[in-house]
Amino acid sequence: ERAALELLRDAPAITLDGVNISLEANIELPEEAADALAAGADAIGLFRSEFLFMGRSDLPSEEEQYQAYTSVVKTMNGRPVTIRTLDIGADKTLDGETTVATNPALGLRAIRYCLANPELFLTQLRALLRASAHGPVRILLPMIAHMHEVKAAYRAIAIAKEQLIARGQAIATNVQVGAMVEIPAIAIAIEPFVEALDFLSIGTNDLIQYTLAVDRGDSEVVDLYDPMHPAVLRLISNTINAGERTGKHVAICGEMAGDAAMTRMLLGLGLKAFSMHPQQLLDVKKEVRESHTNALRNKVASALNRAQRIDLNDL
Ligand code: PEP
Ligand code: MG
Repeated sequence: ERAALELLRDAPAITLDGVNISLEANIELPEEAADALAAGADAIGLFRSEFLFMGRSDLPSEEEQYQAYTSVVKTMNGRPVTIRTLDIGADKTLDGETTVATNPALGLRAIRYCLANPELFLTQLRALLRASAHGPVRILLPMIAHMHEVKAAYRAIAIAKEQLIARGQAIATNVQVGAMVEIPAIAIAIEPFVEALDFLSIGTNDLIQYTLAVDRGDSEVVDLYDPMHPAVLRLISNTINAGERTGKHVAICGEMAGDAAMTRMLLGLGLKAFSMHPQQLLDVKKEVRESHTNALRNKVASALNRAQRIDLNDL
């Protein structure tokens, strides 16, 4: 059966009714880009850059980060590479970080941490912009909830560009900037965000946690961590629809995207970009190639309109 899946590697990810689907890879280390390419990924949909920062006592320099990002860009050979800016705090902490947040999941994490530490943020942005000279880089901002965070991030990117130009260093002019949709507030009030940004990526791991008030790492409440809750699916649907209206790329990069049992449901929500662990990619592609999106979209929409649970076996 594995051999049959291998044959799928070079087949296009297209549904029976002709909808092209982008199948992208999540990676945590630069070396994993080779696995993404081997699995036939169309892009890196999520490079979790925090793993360059963890398990060490110092911060990675601009040069070290530039080398790491550039190696991924070169490996992917012209395919887009989405690099998430540092998502630290909550379940991922820096060594030597002394302050303990009252509630780390709701505290100074991710974009909040970066905007509060401008030198650290600018160093990473310069490394990302320099890597963009070697191929298409998309900058992905984690944990966005407010438009003023988007504006502050754009200001920081502009400053980083000026610093590089002053140094005479090469950067691409067309670096796309997007946000993670992983806080319910942005999924509900999505319009200004989809207008201001080039793309969106739905982080269902955190979106489920924050929508249902269930700690994603707490085994005592794991039964309540429910990706199929109609409220979660409505937030995903609202985000996908905003992308459709504006022609912006909307992906899911949380665990749901790599679960082949959910592929038909996500196609029914109108999803056209799935980012997952490279090993999951061929199973999802198989589902895509055996699906008709039209019927799925009708079934999923009618269930969601009534906030009814969807039974995956009915799709
Ligand atoms: C998510 O929240 O769904 C996500 C992809 O990011 P992480 O799991 O790194 O928080
Ligand atoms: Mg997240």
